Amino acid sequence: MRHLFLAVFAMFLSSRVNAESRFDFATTPGKLPKDVRPTEYSIRIAPDLEKLNFTGSETVRVHAQKPVTRLVLNALEMEIASASLDGRPLSEKAIVLDEKQQTLTLNLPYELATGDHELALAFSGKINAQGQGLFYAGYQEQVTNEKKVMLGTQFEATDARRMFPCWDEPSFRARFQLTVVVPENFTAVSNMPVEGEEKVAGGKEVRFATSPPMSSYLVVLVAGELDSIAAEKDGVKLRIVTTKGKAEMGRYALESAATILQYYNDYFGVPYPLPKLDLIAIPGGFGGAMENWGGITYYESVLLFDPENSSTETKQAIFAVVAHEMAHQWFGDLVTMAWWDNLWLNEGFASWMGSKCTDHFNPKWNEWLRRNVPRDPSRRIGFPKDTAMQSDARSTVHPVQQPIVTEAEAGNAFDEITYRKGQSIIRMLESFLGEDVFRDGIRKYIAAHKYSNTTTADLWEALTEVSGKPVGEIAPGWTEQPGFPVVKVERDKNTIKLAQERFTVHFLDPPALQWQIPLTYLTLDQPATSGFLLRERNASLPSELSANKAIKVNLEDAGYYRVEYDRASWDLLVAQVSRLSEADRVNLLIDAWALVQANRKPLGHYLGLVDKVVGDDQVAVYDQIIDTFTFINRLLAGDPARPRFQQLARAVLRPAFDRVRWKAKPGEPSMTMILRASLIRGLGLLNDSDIIAGCRGRFDSFLSNPTTVPPDLRPTIFAVVGRYADSGTWKKIHELGLKTTSTEEKQYYYEALGNAIDPKLIGRTIGLALTEELPTSRAALLLPFVARQGEHPELVWEFAQENMKTLLAKQDALGVNGFAAGLFPFFSALKDAEMLERYAKTNLPEQARKAVAKAIDEIGFRAEFKQRLVPQLNAWIEQGAR
Ligand SMILES: [Zn+2]
Repeated sequence: MRHLFLAVFAMFLSSRVNAESRFDFATTPGKLPKDVRPTEYSIRIAPDLEKLNFTGSETVRVHAQKPVTRLVLNALEMEIASASLDGRPLSEKAIVLDEKQQTLTLNLPYELATGDHELALAFSGKINAQGQGLFYAGYQEQVTNEKKVMLGTQFEATDARRMFPCWDEPSFRARFQLTVVVPENFTAVSNMPVEGEEKVAGGKEVRFATSPPMSSYLVVLVAGELDSIAAEKDGVKLRIVTTKGKAEMGRYALESAATILQYYNDYFGVPYPLPKLDLIAIPGGFGGAMENWGGITYYESVLLFDPENSSTETKQAIFAVVAHEMAHQWFGDLVTMAWWDNLWLNEGFASWMGSKCTDHFNPKWNEWLRRNVPRDPSRRIGFPKDTAMQSDARSTVHPVQQPIVTEAEAGNAFDEITYRKGQSIIRMLESFLGEDVFRDGIRKYIAAHKYSNTTTADLWEALTEVSGKPVGEIAPGWTEQPGFPVVKVERDKNTIKLAQERFTVHFLDPPALQWQIPLTYLTLDQPATSGFLLRERNASLPSELSANKAIKVNLEDAGYYRVEYDRASWDLLVAQVSRLSEADRVNLLIDAWALVQANRKPLGHYLGLVDKVVGDDQVAVYDQIIDTFTFINRLLAGDPARPRFQQLARAVLRPAFDRVRWKAKPGEPSMTMILRASLIRGLGLLNDSDIIAGCRGRFDSFLSNPTTVPPDLRPTIFAVVGRYADSGTWKKIHELGLKTTSTEEKQYYYEALGNAIDPKLIGRTIGLALTEELPTSRAALLLPFVARQGEHPELVWEFAQENMKTLLAKQDALGVNGFAAGLFPFFSALKDAEMLERYAKTNLPEQARKAVAKAIDEIGFRAEFKQRLVPQLNAWIEQGAR
């Protein structure tokens, strides 16, 4: 549906000066001096898999813009054996490593002249157990079940410096030529194709072709006993690379990648710039996926699809994640943000593009909508929009563009605000400018900045030029200031009055802010949707409305703002809710729940709407309701009100389950299976004895014959059985987890163990975090997973304190800062906040401060919310009983 925006926009063509400047290498933030820059690296790495270390050497062509007497680059946890410049060796004394600054300084005994030079270094470093720099991942090989080890790299944000000394800041682009020595039975993969292979002592030396100019964090190296399948599209060689025996499970990803490549070649207007693209499945070491140029790495379960055993949700996740990472090959790799304060340019855009592409090829999946609704983290990909909005309403929020000074802060930037607020802003802008105009702006931006770096201002500039609309005036309000608005809709006879104010939750005295809001709305009974740019605090909609017409603002839940209707408008809208699309219903639910959280409305406001929107068996509607019920159920752990709430919640969900039942009907849409799984999980959590018995029965038949339970229901059935498990059941699930070679299955078996509510079994589950049973980063994640269940967060915290050092050693760069604080948001008493505060003061580093503040705020919110929720709940139940 196209949105008709009003011609009045033409009046605002005056171009505002952006607070941020366009890209300029010299003034880009960062630690390294800008007077010397690398132009080409030639790097040779020889890993030792026994000792878990490596030796390396490199020559770097550098260009000095002016005479200098020292070179400063990055290196970390590394020893430098020798250094020479233009063939002249430097003395040992001239080589200074600073672990704290993560730099390598070469003090020259002479002045280096302006111009090109060659730096040569020999060094050694270590192979890490967690996804930082060069790492190893242990796994059980498919078919043989033998224990194997492979190598991978994870450099974003600032860990390339752990494998080779380099100018490890994104604006220092250079060409990279990599060579690696590996055992003879290994296959090695990097950004570029293999150029040559030759036998050497202890294995073979693999030499890769030289890359185009790129940022160091995008370099990749993977090696192991690997298989692959390949295809060709638009002249690019595409491969799925996996451990031995798993390549065929990459078929779906390979087909998807070919489809997506063609779509992006057209969308960006610049064809994919490298000769090949490998999508590499790694069975551990890190989670998610990383967009290394030409060699994208994926945690196995978001790349491999086994038609016999994988779920529909896994399939959907694979397409979406492949689409996201491939979008980065242009937006992020070909054109790269200048500095980490603009990380959102990479992530917000790739998230938006990935969803747009996924939706384009799979319209039935309801991609946009389902990514907006919070769900159990084990069942979603990335951050839901509403999760971003929930944190964006708090006092601990930061703007999309935030200053980043240290390396550790760069790691903190990978959060829901960067990804999902970023994505939502782009979606609003696209809708405001129109699809084609927006695409033309992106083409212009890519063409103008390819093989270079940018700031957000460069993007606004391109969009402004192409559209003739004041993008640079509207957009910075969303990226440079924190928070977002609520739009209040009020009827005054035939006029609709609008007022905006900042929307906050649990936030004393928030600074007032104002936005330029591209609103969309629909008058029920009229076919066309309309747009209106709300620039001031107050305004009226230009068209008149007859008194009995309902109006819906923020169509399809596409905008990044909340809407609060006055009583008359709300009643009209709710009365006609059956005429709204699934997305509009979900949007009403999300906003209604947010208004309850913000103490603008009582719980009955939300529950009253729930009664009106159930019945049509729409997945996203139920996902929103189940997520909210799950939150309330966890908040009420140990409270006498809990059984009454569970009864009420079961009564809402049960009729839908009675319609879909356990078994798929012939020819039913694939989304019905997802709805079925959601309902079973929700009702199981809410203690529905019939559902629990049904899950147990299916678990038993699965044990004797796995094909009796469809893959889509397995994670759910295991979750419910695990929750109410006794010791014997716990053991059976654990055995399944130990045996499987599938990363996807392993994950849901261990999560089932993490669901247990019996304190003895909780103790056993969290003990597994110290074992080697799960990939390192996943093992430590068991703890927040168990804490989130809300039954016994104190057991998790006791255990974590005793084992903090071991647990932190299992975290990668992105996980380490927030790990301890991440165990706390599931407490809801103020004394728990004090406990975390005390712990943080003596035990946690400065870079954990933001995560700690966020957790403390969340505990405070939950304590306050619980107090008002219980009487409101009782009032609602009593009112219903009358
Ligand atoms: Zn990304």
